[in-house]
Amino acid sequence: MIEIHEKVCIGCEKCVKVCPVDAIFMEEKIAKLEQELCISCGACVTACPVDAIEPVLKACRANSAEYSGVWVFAEQHGNVCRPTGPELLGKARELADELGEELCAVILGDDVEDLCDELAAYGAEKVYMVQDEKLSNYNTEAYTTALISLISKYKPSVFIMGATHLGRDLAPSVAGHLGLGLTADCTGLSITEVEGCKVLLQTRPAFGGNVMADIICPNTRPQMATVRPHVMQPLEPDHDRKAEIIEEKVKIASDSIKTEILEIMEPEETGEISVEEADVVITGGRGVGGDEGFDRLRELAKLLGGTVGCSRPIVEDDIMPKSHQVGQSGKTISPELDIVCGVSGAVQHRVGIRGSKYIIAINKDPKAPIFEMADFGIVGDINKIVPLLIERLKEKSC
Ligand SMILES: Cc1cc2nc3c(=O)[nH]c(=O)nc-3n(C[C@H](O)[C@H](O)[C@H](O)COP(=O)(O)OP(=O)(O)OC[C@H]3O[C@@H](n4cnc5c(N)ncnc54)[C@H](O)[C@@H]3O)c2cc1C
Ligand code: SF4
Ligand code: SF4
Repeated sequence: MIEIHEKVCIGCEKCVKVCPVDAIFMEEKIAKLEQELCISCGACVTACPVDAIEPVLKACRANSAEYSGVWVFAEQHGNVCRPTGPELLGKARELADELGEELCAVILGDDVEDLCDELAAYGAEKVYMVQDEKLSNYNTEAYTTALISLISKYKPSVFIMGATHLGRDLAPSVAGHLGLGLTADCTGLSITEVEGCKVLLQTRPAFGGNVMADIICPNTRPQMATVRPHVMQPLEPDHDRKAEIIEEKVKIASDSIKTEILEIMEPEETGEISVEEADVVITGGRGVGGDEGFDRLRELAKLLGGTVGCSRPIVEDDIMPKSHQVGQSGKTISPELDIVCGVSGAVQHRVGIRGSKYIIAINKDPKAPIFEMADFGIVGDINKIVPLLIERLKEKSC
């Protein structure tokens, strides 16, 4: 909500121009607000040159009966869907079924119509789409305005996004403008019942990863969460599945956008597969030792068509770059196979590998906690076992 201080207003009309829903009008050269139309986007607050408009943050106690639908924000970059959209649709399908509500995707961009079929293939029944050249590249203000316009109009009960760089910026902006709760960086989502009402149970590591916290937002709607990439599994795509496409026009005033994109720099092509995308990850911990041990892991990874990940102390010791760190403060991985070498299995590491299909742990300590979650365990010295594995794989490939 906003409040206009009429005595401060100088009648410049800048707020009228930027309001996406025409909630402000002029009366005797003073700005007036139509409260019911306002979607709390905040564009007028930043546009006013004399600070006559003030945001008033209110946690809205929503009437949950008015809200329905599980929404997934489908992130795109260069008009290509990012993996988080399909991943979240997979989980959201379960949530929507349990709630008995529709599963919808939201896509923002310019010329993104073709992506709607892809979202339908991954399970979306409806796709809400806003196309505007101001949305072609991500910027906080334009994306926030578009999303809060859609949310205010269609009132979903659940709204989830990937905890990507974009999601970590956009989700709090949307939640802040609408006065909603937000659980960031979830590793699990499910439905639970509170006082006879079905609510979203949002699970995330807390207190340095030592406990998993279950969080609910019983009073505000939509219930908002961001989810770590690669934690959820997408459904098998079915390209015969079709979705209803709802295209919305949202007024995004250029004046409301405070950032200018000067250059887009794509990440350097290193030819290496990232730990998040690899089917096979060989993860090394302190037990591997230094560069020599990691060279061996690289050789093993190459033979299996995979890549090397590591625990945090390895990054702290400058043996591997941060981009390879797996765990709570690193990447979450979900390969088909994770061979975990010389990693003790601290909870902060384990939280990053839970999505792996098969985990083989190699550790000389039979009591190492990593064995509690491994599918197969080898008790022994890495310096002996890894060279043996390499030798056997080389023999097989001959
Ligand atoms: C807020 C916070 C965030 C964190 N985030 C992360 C994170 O993202 N990722 C992460 O990994 N950690 C993270 N940590 C650190 C985490 O708590 C552990 O300290 C870390 O994971 C331990 O790394 P390690 O298993 O490689 O080392 P260690 O705990 O020292 O374990 C080494 C293991 O190697 C075995 N070993 C030794 N020599 C051999 C050998 N020759 N052959 C076979 N086995 C051998 C040992 O038995 C031991 O089990 C975080 C900590 C905090 C507080
Ligand atoms: S906060 Fe946004 S919707 Fe509300 S009056 Fe201001 S510009 Fe319009
Ligand atoms: S932008 Fe500020 S000063 Fe200008 S009309 Fe609106 S409230 Fe008044």
